[in-house]
Amino acid sequence: MRVTLVVELLRKYSECPECHETLMMNQVEVIDKEFKAKCDCGWEIKHVEWR
Ligand SMILES: [Zn+2]
Repeated sequence: MRVTLVVELLRKYSECPECHETLMMNQVEVIDKEFKAKCDCGWEIKHVEWR
């Protein structure tokens, strides 16, 4: 995944859109082309890099 896209996604998901808790680095995972973020409230997102 492009670094610029990771930065963009980290900014976008710096907090949970459901409960507005700040997401910690251990709640965010970047593996190859996938960006995953999850929150204790149950919200989660998976973003796959588009090409
Ligand atoms: Zn949440």
